[in-house]
Amino acid sequence: MQVKTQLDDLQNYLTDASNMPGGFADKMIVPESEAEIAEVLREANERRIPVTASGARTGTVGGAIPFGGIILSFEKLNKLAIDRESETAKVGAGVILGDLQKAVEQAGLFYPPDPTEWSCQIGGNVATNASGARSFKYGATREFVEGMRVVLATGELLSLRRGEYIADPTGLLSVTTEDGRIVVIKVPTYERPNVRKNVSGFYNSRSLDAIDLFIGSEGTLGVIVEIDVKLLSKPSGFFSGIVFFEKDADLLSFVDDARARSFSTRKGRTSRLSEPDIDATLLEYFDANSLKLIAEKFPETPPNMAGAIFFEQETTDDNEDALLGAWNELLEKHNAAVDASWFTTTEQDLSKMREFRHALPVTVNERVVRNRQKKIGTDMAVPDDKFASFLRFYNETLGASGIEYVIFGHIGDCHLHANLLPKTEDEATRSRHIYGRCVAQAIMLGGCVSAEHGIGKLKRNYLAAMMGERYLNEMAEVKRALDPNGILGRGNMFNEAYLNT
Ligand SMILES: Cc1cc2nc3c(=O)[nH]c(=O)nc-3n(C[C@H](O)[C@H](O)[C@H](O)COP(=O)(O)OP(=O)(O)OC[C@H]3O[C@@H](n4cnc5c(N)ncnc54)[C@H](O)[C@@H]3O)c2cc1C
Repeated sequence: MQVKTQLDDLQNYLTDASNMPGGFADKMIVPESEAEIAEVLREANERRIPVTASGARTGTVGGAIPFGGIILSFEKLNKLAIDRESETAKVGAGVILGDLQKAVEQAGLFYPPDPTEWSCQIGGNVATNASGARSFKYGATREFVEGMRVVLATGELLSLRRGEYIADPTGLLSVTTEDGRIVVIKVPTYERPNVRKNVSGFYNSRSLDAIDLFIGSEGTLGVIVEIDVKLLSKPSGFFSGIVFFEKDADLLSFVDDARARSFSTRKGRTSRLSEPDIDATLLEYFDANSLKLIAEKFPETPPNMAGAIFFEQETTDDNEDALLGAWNELLEKHNAAVDASWFTTTEQDLSKMREFRHALPVTVNERVVRNRQKKIGTDMAVPDDKFASFLRFYNETLGASGIEYVIFGHIGDCHLHANLLPKTEDEATRSRHIYGRCVAQAIMLGGCVSAEHGIGKLKRNYLAAMMGERYLNEMAEVKRALDPNGILGRGNMFNEAYLNT
């Protein structure tokens, strides 16, 4: 294994896409096998040295930023094997999502998780339960994880298969390490908010599956070294559109209709018994400010629109025409500016549409660098029936602030990102206050503080506000069962005070 201690070698590993400052570490270890990871962790655990799992550092909440101790980097754990027959893949934690996507595509299969930024690693995706636009139809990374190998903080190995370790009715979850030690975990008693996406705190359910506990645990419960993912057959085609609206009310009624019809179709309750019906894979929102920003990179963006929706649906040769007709009907019903909108069934144009979507967070980040201020970005989700009121709150609060902002994202899942782009210190301070008000509003509406980016080090106070003392203590009890010395992912999710035994 490689061990690096020079600051030059470590520098890139001391920060992530959050640009959170202050990261430092004694050394970085680049292991080539799970046995080497086990060796590192065994020693670190004995000496109580903090260990931070570092993926591709595209995370936006500081989860991979170390504050002392050892960085574990997985770039050498990059084995990838696809089994076409069983439609599964065995993936090393350090495999880059873009590489997996390419290989899966070449095998004629489909891996839906698409967290916009394809330079991330699969280990990072599993540790954050990454989701993205297509989660609207296919679900988050969790839905595709069938098995994994994990090294615990003690250096012990755990092999998990979905359905293998399930909590018993008394609320205890027992897992057996490869050495035969049984670890007993007390399942937390909190109920998760009734939202479509949520990565705020450890996953929980009455019959909790151990594999689900590790998914989304942000490097705090174990080091994920290898993952078995489920793949799907590749859809024969997609019909996609970026459609513009002149009025917000029309855009929102279009989304409500498209969402409701997609759910009906999936439940087999389509309105047209003999014809295929609307079943969107994604429904993505851009507000008017987002469109203005994207126009810097895509000047063909029509001006003066209230907003736009990017949608996509799987097609076959047999149903393509009928589906195009169904979408067209829906768009006309809700007064979309159809003539100004863009539609495609070709892979090339679809990639361009994805670039359009990706251009937004990228342009936002460039603007932030230019302003020499930090972006303040929200990631809350609220229950479906509270979504309209939450969007109104966003618009009124951000609009009244006079600070530049954009609102965009996964409207199908009732989950939008509001990004404030302060230009001065004063605006930055006010943006942080506004962020706090948005968090409070989301919690009050029964939502969660993070729907997809995770808690990391930046949002743990908000997690505390959402969960309360009692449930954070229950989470800490889970962590102590698996990582008794609290060496893994220190500072992520909860304040270290919760981890003292
Ligand atoms: C432009 C942009 C757009 C984005 N859009 C989305 C989006 O749409 N949806 C979304 O979900 N996310 C999005 N993200 C966030 C980010 O891409 C995801 O969180 C991604 O899953 C992080 O993967 P990573 O390899 O970069 O992990 P890192 O950032 O390196 O780490 C993330 C966390 O996982 C832990 N970790 C990493 N690897 C392991 C491992 N092997 N074992 C245990 N713990 C580990 C780290 O300790 C850390 O806590 C976006 C980021 C950017 C920059």
